[in-house]
Amino acid sequence: MALLRFAPSPTGSLHLGGLRTALFNHLLARKLGGTWLLRIEDTDATRYDPQSVAGIKAGLQWAGIAPENADAPYYQSQRLDLYHEHAKKLLDQRLAYRCFCSPDTLAETRQRLSSLGSNATYDRTCLHLTDEEVHRRLRAGHKHVVRLLDTAVPTRPSIADMVFGAFKDVHTSLSTDTVLLKSDNFPTYHLASVIDDHDMGVTHVVRGEEWLASLPLHLDLYACFGWKPPEFGHLPLLLNADGTKMSKRASGWKVSSFEESGFEPEAVLNWLFLLGLSTSTHDEEVFRLEEMLQRFDLNHFSTHRAILDRSKLLHLNRSHIRRKAEEDDPKLLSRTQRVIKEELGTDVSVDEARTALKFAGDRVEVLPQLPAIAGYLFVEPNYASTEARKLKKSIPSEIYRQVCSDLLAALHPAPIITCMSDGNKAYITKLGDANPSLDTDDLHERWAAALASVRNALMKNKTASPKQIMATLRHALTGMEHGPPLAEIVQALPPYQILWRLARGSF
Ligand code: GLU
Repeated sequence: MALLRFAPSPTGSLHLGGLRTALFNHLLARKLGGTWLLRIEDTDATRYDPQSVAGIKAGLQWAGIAPENADAPYYQSQRLDLYHEHAKKLLDQRLAYRCFCSPDTLAETRQRLSSLGSNATYDRTCLHLTDEEVHRRLRAGHKHVVRLLDTAVPTRPSIADMVFGAFKDVHTSLSTDTVLLKSDNFPTYHLASVIDDHDMGVTHVVRGEEWLASLPLHLDLYACFGWKPPEFGHLPLLLNADGTKMSKRASGWKVSSFEESGFEPEAVLNWLFLLGLSTSTHDEEVFRLEEMLQRFDLNHFSTHRAILDRSKLLHLNRSHIRRKAEEDDPKLLSRTQRVIKEELGTDVSVDEARTALKFAGDRVEVLPQLPAIAGYLFVEPNYASTEARKLKKSIPSEIYRQVCSDLLAALHPAPIITCMSDGNKAYITKLGDANPSLDTDDLHERWAAALASVRNALMKNKTASPKQIMATLRHALTGMEHGPPLAEIVQALPPYQILWRLARGSF
């Protein structure tokens, strides 16, 4: 059965590149009817970040693609014996040797080699130590590393990368006699990942293009151990909008920052998925995992480095919100209730959250924008927003006042206006809310007729144009220029809020 793995180093937060690797592991595993696992490659004690593993797990959970062992991942630091055992095998076969050179000696060696025009990194001093000398130093507890003896490696297997195709059989490793075991007793990434992939029965390795340069060394290790290598697929680098390589450290690309900004996980996965496709059609690009799975084929993966385009993500996010809203997704509804509570301080029912989503329509790119767009359903419109101020400016103030006061009068008898003229805003709000003698129950039904009569009167004597009337009402009721049809807005607003907003505009 196919087995894949996502093997992050716990050196920081899960970033987009890592999430993309996890996504493609997930997709390929499912496509092949297999599974995938999480392996924490914590062999670099100097770069270990204790927060990291929790962040990686949380990011995968958020994205909805956590593998089965996410709660109990493999840790390489708990498997040191295995790596030592295998390093010993290489030593016994003289495919590797112990090197006791100190960091200072190594730096001098490198300098000397480079002054001679060589780009070798080591001169193999320790290869020539006798077995007795090696044992003497080991007994004396001298620090050392284990190096692969490059020139002793059996023929490297030739393979084709699932993404990049035929693999050129050149040695691109930058060092000479690569270190496999470090002096702190930890293996290097190369040794540990090859041993683990074999030991765990990994059949397909899907990882970032940055590891392509290490592939010859990994294939060498497979050859040394006499193991059949798995299939490899390297995913092209992700680039910033300016074409520079995406930095793992840039906080804007942390998966958690997309969560904090209220993005839909499906949209982020969709975005990462599309980045890899060699062709993308415009009409069909909003995919969920199941749909990605149907379209997924690593052989048709683009080898082009992909540019992270935030506007594309926003577009996808908007589409995913719409889709969930149409499906009445309970999670979306409860998140909507939460963002409204957080932003406006108001508790709203599920029905109200549903209406808000409907009213916000396509204007919401990320959910936290919703209160600013549909918040007028629950609290007073934000008349101070740029949009509201611009709209208000476009309407002559006497017309604005007239439209509001005429409509208010047509909708409701005098008391409310009397109160307003006293300027007692707090009182009128309360009055509308609580005074049963204010008959507002049928206000929604009376709206259309009242508006028609006001409109006819104002147009007849050319006081206001239809456009000005609509602009006034949109402003007074919502503080916004665009939105759903006015009649729908009116139906969704509590009657006293309609009266209050018109009253507010009448003076
Ligand atoms: N530990 C490596 C990383 O964090 C994984 C490389 C691999 O998948 O082989 O990128």
